[in-house]
Amino acid sequence: MKGSFQIAKFFGIPVQVHWTFTLIFVYVFYEGMGKSLSWMEMGGVLIIVLALFFFVVLHEYGHALAARRYGVDTRDIILSPIGGVARLDRLPEHPMHEFVVAVAGPMVNIVIGVALSCVPLLSSEESRQDFINFFMQILYPRSNFFAADLSPFQYFLFIFVAINGILAAFNLLPAFPMDGGRMLRALLSLRLGRLRATRASVYIGQFIAVILVGYGLWNFHYTMALIGLFVFIMAANEYRMAKLDGLLENYRVQDVLRTRYTKIYSRDPLSLAMGPLSQGIEHNFLVFDQWQNLVGVLPEERILEAAKGQQEGTMAGQLVTTRFESVLASDSLKSLFPKMQWKGYPLLPVYDKGKLVGVVDKNALNNFISLQAKLERKRIPSLLRPGLFRRRTGLTEG
Ligand SMILES: [Zn+2]
Repeated sequence: MKGSFQIAKFFGIPVQVHWTFTLIFVYVFYEGMGKSLSWMEMGGVLIIVLALFFFVVLHEYGHALAARRYGVDTRDIILSPIGGVARLDRLPEHPMHEFVVAVAGPMVNIVIGVALSCVPLLSSEESRQDFINFFMQILYPRSNFFAADLSPFQYFLFIFVAINGILAAFNLLPAFPMDGGRMLRALLSLRLGRLRATRASVYIGQFIAVILVGYGLWNFHYTMALIGLFVFIMAANEYRMAKLDGLLENYRVQDVLRTRYTKIYSRDPLSLAMGPLSQGIEHNFLVFDQWQNLVGVLPEERILEAAKGQQEGTMAGQLVTTRFESVLASDSLKSLFPKMQWKGYPLLPVYDKGKLVGVVDKNALNNFISLQAKLERKRIPSLLRPGLFRRRTGLTEG
């Protein structure tokens, strides 16, 4: 992700921190100065904040390692001020696997919380009482439970238990994008299928979101109201993604394949690409060497950059990027989409039976998706039936 840097790597999965994360330190310092906290107190707050994110990372590793059991890789775990996310390559296919992956995160926090609770609960009667009073105080602030002076060790230990409890409870809310929402969807999927299950759980999630917003505004808990709003928007987003997934699943690369494309050679001057580029049909180009071997992709932005720098004399080979993947005409669009959207490939070569048969363009894919969405909005049955293009072009199933 742009603006992120790696801070650690466990089990082969990098932990990335988004730069905005550092704003937390600024915020703690700013708040601390405003409330004239001592350096000791500010240090304490910082320990709590860092511990919070440490437990978030463990939570995300719960998801990532559970996903690995089902053969799903995790690209990275990203921390930002609003939380953490493990970016899985895809969702596990089977609903029960999705359920296990979703529940694994909160389970990590429950296990840590229970384990840490054992320390005060199994030691002296006094510490047991302190522990109980501390939580009664949090749960019922207006009651007269009173936690006696706690030692720093007790204090941090109790806070860590509370953090894990809150993380588990919050994430188990049955609303997208929380894990509880995914668990609900997975269970409903067993009966309803993925898409209808997503719709049902989106409605349930939005209902909960409305309650959160209402309750938050009514009781001046603005954070809660904001979370509700966030949940509402994310739920709608989740449904769009599920619908897109359903759509992409039905089509193949050959449905968006372009068989006519301009071949550019490494030694060609860049100006050669300007012609097709200005016609607006082709934006990115495949570049070949003199023996007709594919060497890479010449993306539009590099051409424009060179043009801006008045470097029209540059040879195509100097600007080519060798970062690309080949796709098969028979690959589903569902597998193509993450490549173009997340890995940011603008153009990919398409092969069929070991032969280069054409290209697929990011713009073409986006056009295809928005056209299908438009057709659906107007309730026009799609004219493009899956595989139609294959018959026209004589491509065969791989
Ligand atoms: Zn989670």
